[in-house]
Amino acid sequence: MSSMTKHDTGANATWTKTVVSKTDYRNIMWTDLLAIAADHWQWVQAQPGAYTAQGSCLVAALFLPSTKGGVIFLSTIPRGTKHTEMMNGARTAPAWFRATTGGTGRATGLKLHAEDGAEFLFETSAYAKGIVKNFQYVTPDRDNHHGQMRLAVWGRHRTSPAQGESIALCTAGEKQPKCPAVARALNVAYCEQYKVRFEEQNR
Ligand SMILES: [Zn+2]
Repeated sequence: MSSMTKHDTGANATWTKTVVSKTDYRNIMWTDLLAIAADHWQWVQAQPGAYTAQGSCLVAALFLPSTKGGVIFLSTIPRGTKHTEMMNGARTAPAWFRATTGGTGRATGLKLHAEDGAEFLFETSAYAKGIVKNFQYVTPDRDNHHGQMRLAVWGRHRTSPAQGESIALCTAGEKQPKCPAVARALNVAYCEQYKVRFEEQNR
């Protein structure tokens, strides 16, 4: 289990972390990215206030390929001061802000998801320099011929098994635009069940 850094307290707590992997750098298997998210989730789900009132605790993991070492940006569901910081992030994370809010005005009541937290963490980091172009995340060919970052989520909704599970990006619910649309707008590849199955069958 690996710890994460806490922002704010109680029901407003959000946890984030940035991890550099020397082994996975040009690309990462979906199963390996999920394993990293699960490892941090195991720790964070035991922390006080980790679960939302709706009974969710999720960790999103966003992988940035780099020949200097792959970087994984991790976040739980943004709440409290982290949520406020993100909703004021038009200048600090313009690509994410435009993709998530449409860039028009500030929808301060917008419910952000863990995926938003990971994207925001990346875009406000020093690693974003040279990657964010025309409101998209584009990695250099030398680092990854796909030119894409990868996003996966591990955790628990109310109905999930105790050990957590791979969580698909949202397809239902009130959030607009939904996380898959935000990822596509940012040029981020996201985990889907068939991609994990394909890896497992081709090991
Ligand atoms: Zn979502």
